[in-house]
Amino acid sequence: MAAGGSIFNAMLQEFDGAARLLGLDPGIWKILTHPKRQITVSCPIQMDNGEIEVFTGYRVQYNITLGPAKGGIRYHPDVTLDEVTALAAWMTWKCAVAQVPFGGGKGGIICDPTRMSRRELEALTRRYVAEIVDAIGPDKDVPAPDVNTNAQVMAWIMDTYSMHVGHTSTAVVTGKPVEMGGSLGRREATGRGVMITTREAAKHLGFDIQSATVAVQGFGNVGSVSADLLSQIGATIVAVTDWKGGVYNAKGLDIPKMLDYMKQHTTIDGFPGGESIENAALFALDVDVLVPAALENQITAENVGEIKAKVIAEGANGPTTPDAHKTLHDRGVFVIPDILANAGGVTTSYFEWVQNRHGYFWEEDEVNRRLEVKMCDAFKDVLQTSIKYKTDLRTAAYVVAISRVATVTKLRGMYA
Ligand code: GLU
Repeated sequence: MAAGGSIFNAMLQEFDGAARLLGLDPGIWKILTHPKRQITVSCPIQMDNGEIEVFTGYRVQYNITLGPAKGGIRYHPDVTLDEVTALAAWMTWKCAVAQVPFGGGKGGIICDPTRMSRRELEALTRRYVAEIVDAIGPDKDVPAPDVNTNAQVMAWIMDTYSMHVGHTSTAVVTGKPVEMGGSLGRREATGRGVMITTREAAKHLGFDIQSATVAVQGFGNVGSVSADLLSQIGATIVAVTDWKGGVYNAKGLDIPKMLDYMKQHTTIDGFPGGESIENAALFALDVDVLVPAALENQITAENVGEIKAKVIAEGANGPTTPDAHKTLHDRGVFVIPDILANAGGVTTSYFEWVQNRHGYFWEEDEVNRRLEVKMCDAFKDVLQTSIKYKTDLRTAAYVVAISRVATVTKLRGMYA
């Protein structure tokens, strides 16, 4: 569990605020605050040194009212069942906000992939999939990349599942390599969604994104693509930090050069295009937009007082604690919540799943055009709801999501 207590409790606090505003039926309230299914597995692996290690893995299917469970799998030493359950709940709300016909799921394995060989990672992935194979499938639960997992890991998942069911099943997982059924545009989709929602926020607030300054925490898949696409539409990226260090340049960082540097060094630390900066200083910068795109619990009661950004676009899941969020809202900071800002990833995962099931693939322009429409619609729905209920965007996003899931829960009725 990341510092700051139960992440699932943080999710519940956010949920309760919106459910109260909606006057949610108490029975539906109970259903939507419990995970449908939590799976814990032990994965024994022979390590390269010949020893056997046992890794604990989780898969949580939080809610499948709108469709198959959907959500990534993360590899991280701090993974807990509490965290994975919260992340699976957030996927439920995210899919509902983005209007993709999926429920919410999430997986995680407690491991440190930076200390494991490629062979060990492949063995761990395959054993984990073998342990949960009956629970996943194109109509049951569809994993995807998350923290420290990528297209190669998805390829191993697809292959292991396919071997078990006896035929090639591409739609069991999204975020695959394009050569084997992945969608064009999927890798960039989460960052693209962050760019689109930030651009729409600037439009709404009446400032010009082309003269805006941006600081980005995290330079993984989400942070790097967000920085790249925001700089492509004219914003100035003044600071980026990652797991090792950070770089600041008031005149703007050259993001394509930084991406090249990252490929060679696996960190941006030491990038020659600016001076070094730490995370705490990045959060305190006087910028227009702050993009937390790392892990949960980064903006907390302790550091929220330092934050000067006008807009926060949550590329990560759960980067802001409920206390800190309240302070930001009271101060008039425009927070684009995770379940809206980073919904581009799962939206394009949905497109990938649709293409797999049709066996017909779209051009990249088509993928991006459809993503643009869905992200703008979601932004509009959440913004209008926040105006209608006189509330912040996070609560509004939950209101949108909860009412969509609650409506279908009622329509489907109670079994038994
Ligand atoms: N892991 C991503 C997320 O948190 C994407 C999930 C997916 O595409 O299913 O939204």
